[in-house]
Amino acid sequence: MNSLSFQILSLFYVGLILFVYFGKKKLDTLENRIYVSLLIINFINQIVDMISVYLGIKEPTLPITNFFTKFYLVILLLWVFCFTYYIFVISSKKNMGNTVIWKNKNMGYFKKVFFYFLGTFSIVGILIFLFPLHVWSDGKSMYTYGPSAITSYATTFICLIIWTICLWTNAKSLKDKKYLPVFSFVILAGTSAVIQGLFPQILLVTSAASFITVLTYFTIENPDMKMIEQLNIARDQADKANNAKSEFLSNMSHEIRTPLNAIVGFSQALKEENLPEEAIEEVEDIISASSSLLEIVNGILDISKIEAGKLEIVNTEYSFKKVYNELVSLTKARIGDKQIEFRTHYDELVPPVLYGDHTRVKQVVLNLLTNAAKYTKEGYIELKVSTVIKNDICRLIISVEDSGIGIKNENISQLFSKFERFDLEKNITIEGTGLGLAITKKLMDLMKGKIVVQSVYGKGSKFTLAIDQKIVPKDALEEIVVESVDSTSFQNKKILVVDDNKLNLKVATRLLTPLGINVEEVDSGFACIEKIKEGNKYDLILLDDMMPKMSGIETLSYLKGIENFKIPCIALTANAISGMREKYINAGFDDYLSKPIDKNELNNVLSKFLSTEEKTMV
Ligand code: ADP
Repeated sequence: MNSLSFQILSLFYVGLILFVYFGKKKLDTLENRIYVSLLIINFINQIVDMISVYLGIKEPTLPITNFFTKFYLVILLLWVFCFTYYIFVISSKKNMGNTVIWKNKNMGYFKKVFFYFLGTFSIVGILIFLFPLHVWSDGKSMYTYGPSAITSYATTFICLIIWTICLWTNAKSLKDKKYLPVFSFVILAGTSAVIQGLFPQILLVTSAASFITVLTYFTIENPDMKMIEQLNIARDQADKANNAKSEFLSNMSHEIRTPLNAIVGFSQALKEENLPEEAIEEVEDIISASSSLLEIVNGILDISKIEAGKLEIVNTEYSFKKVYNELVSLTKARIGDKQIEFRTHYDELVPPVLYGDHTRVKQVVLNLLTNAAKYTKEGYIELKVSTVIKNDICRLIISVEDSGIGIKNENISQLFSKFERFDLEKNITIEGTGLGLAITKKLMDLMKGKIVVQSVYGKGSKFTLAIDQKIVPKDALEEIVVESVDSTSFQNKKILVVDDNKLNLKVATRLLTPLGINVEEVDSGFACIEKIKEGNKYDLILLDDMMPKMSGIETLSYLKGIENFKIPCIALTANAISGMREKYINAGFDDYLSKPIDKNELNNVLSKFLSTEEKTMV
C-alpha cells in the first residue's frame, strides 16, 4: 500500500458523503452550515493532499511542491479551525431546532466568535506561508518538517485542547443532546496526530479528518436524523400544549362545579318549599338544566383526564346486577314519555360478584343508552347482557340497539373522535357535545375491552361492548343497604361542615337544616381542629378537601391524632373522577360526597352515619 492509498480512499468516501448530503433536504441551522463547510474543506484538502504527496515523492525540491505542501497545511488548518468552531457551537447550544435558543447567548455572540476564529486562522495561515518548510522523500513516501510544519502542528494541538475543554465543561448537556460521539472524535484526532508525529511518513492526518467528517455524518449531522429530531421536538411541544389545554379544561371544570353546587343545592332545597305550581316547574327546569351542565362538565373533565393519562381504572368487587338495575331505571327516566318500548334481556349466568371498575362500566353503557334515547323518536331500545365464562374470567357482552335515526356509513369511522356530531340538520334540537362516544371508546381501551358499531341510516343502530371482568368466587356482595330516609331520625343531630367557600357552606346548611339537623360551619381545617380540641361534640363532619393551607386530607390526619376522636368524616370534593372514593377511603375518610351535592346521595350518607345501620347481603 503506498502513501496515496489512504488519500484515494478518503477522497472517495468524502466525495460520496458530499453527494449524499447535498442530495438531502436539510434544516438551516448554524451547525448544519458549519458541517457543510467541513465537508467541502475536507474534500478540497484531500485533493490538495494527493497533489502535494505526489509532488513531494517525485519532486521534493521544486518550489511548486513547497507551495502545494504549504497550501495543504493551510487547508488542513482551516478544517481544524472549522471543527473547533463546530464543537464550540454544539457545546454552547442550549436547544436544537429551527429557532435556535442559545445558552445565555444570541447569534451575534457566535458571529463575534467566528470572526475571532477567522482572524486567528488568517494569522497562522500567513505564518505557515512565510516560514520555511522542508520536504523529505525517499522516492516512495514523504513527509514535511521545519518551522512551517511545526506552526501548523502546534496550532492543531492547541485546537485539540480547546475541543477537550469545550466538551469536558459541557459533557452533561452534550450527552443529553446525543453529541456523545464527538468525544470519540477527539480521541481519534489526538491518536492520529500522535501516530503522525511518531511515524511522519504515514500521512494519516487528512484521512483521519475525513474519517471524522464522515463519522459525524453518520452519528450527528445526518439530515434524516436531524429531521426526526426536529419532529420529536415539535411533537413534544405539541404534547406540552395539549397537556396545558387538558390541565386548563380540568381546572375550569373544577371551578364551574363550585357555582354549580350552589345552583343545584339551592334549587333542590327550594323544591321542598311550599311554592306555587309554576315556581315548582321552574325550579325543576333549573335542576334539569344544571344536571345537563354537570354532564357536560363531567365529560370535559373525563376527556381531559384521559388525555393527560391521569384517569385510572380502579378495580373493586362489585355486583353487575346492581349496575344493570341502575342502568335500567336511569334509561327509563331518560326515555320519559316518548313512544319507545324499552326491552331488556339479562343473562342470569353473570356471576354475582365481579372484579372491575363498576363506575366506568356503568358510564360506558349509560353513554350508549343515553344516545339511544336521544337519537330515537319512536320504536324500541333494547339492552341485552350476555356472558361467556372461561376459567376465572367473565366476558360481559352488552349490546344497546335502537330503532332511531341511524348513522351514515361515511360517519362511522369518525364516530369515536371527540367533538364529532353528525346529521346536525336532524339533531339540531338534541343536546350533546360529541364527547360521549370518544370517552366511551377511550374508557373501553383503558379497560382492554372492545366496542363494535352496526348501523343502518334511517333504521337504527346497535353498539356492542365486550369487557372482561374477573370473577370473584362469592355468592353475594356484602354491602350496607340504606333503609328509606326517615328525616325524623336526624332530629337534633349535630354536623360540622368545613369548607373555605362561603357559598358552599350556605348550600350545605340549606340542605341539612330542613332535616332538623343542627349545623355548624367553619371555613378552614385549622378552625375544624380547634372546634374538636375545644371539646365540641358532633355526629358527623363534612370536610371539603381542596382548601388552601390545610387540605381536608391533612386536616383529617391531624384529627385522627387527637385522643378519642371517633366522629365519622365525609370528604367533600369537586373532583368527581373515578377512583376518588377509594382515594378518600384510603386516606381515612368514612365516605365521600361529590359536589354539586346530590340530595339523594346526601340522604344516603346521612342515613348511613346518623341512623342505625343495617348490613345486608345483596
Ligand atoms: P353527543 O351525543 O353528545 O353528540 P356522542 O359522542 O355520544 O356525542 O355521539 C357522537 C355522534 O354520533 C352524535 O352526535 C350522533 O350524531 C351520533 N350517534 C351516537 N349514537 C347514536 C345513535 N344511537 N343513533 C344515531 N346516531 C348516534
